[in-house]
Amino acid sequence: MDCIFDKIIAGEIPSKKVYEDNFVFAFYDIHPIAPVHVLIIPKKHIESINDLEEGDVEIVGNMFLAAKKIAFDLGIAEKGYKLLVRTGRDGGQEVPHIHMHLLGGARLREDIGPVK
Ligand SMILES: [Zn+2]
Repeated sequence: MDCIFDKIIAGEIPSKKVYEDNFVFAFYDIHPIAPVHVLIIPKKHIESINDLEEGDVEIVGNMFLAAKKIAFDLGIAEKGYKLLVRTGRDGGQEVPHIHMHLLGGARLREDIGPVK
């Protein structure tokens, strides 16, 4: 399988790791759009939210718990942050492996809606 995120998890592609547990790996986005921009990905290769199965509930729950832990570790929990999961073409998903963006460190604009 030729998945860039699987290679990052395996250490075959270097990344600035922020957090890791049995279910989740997290690292700084190489093209940050906010002062804090971390990608939280499941260690299991799941292409998108559309591919989630009942048995993946623990993985998804741990992605949110990881987001909370990272937000506290990076000192942005109290002021707040945004979690974003893109799905498919219209959602703007670019890598076919579920990833949750953790965005914070500044007041973030909404920036949603159809492409103009
Ligand atoms: Zn993958």
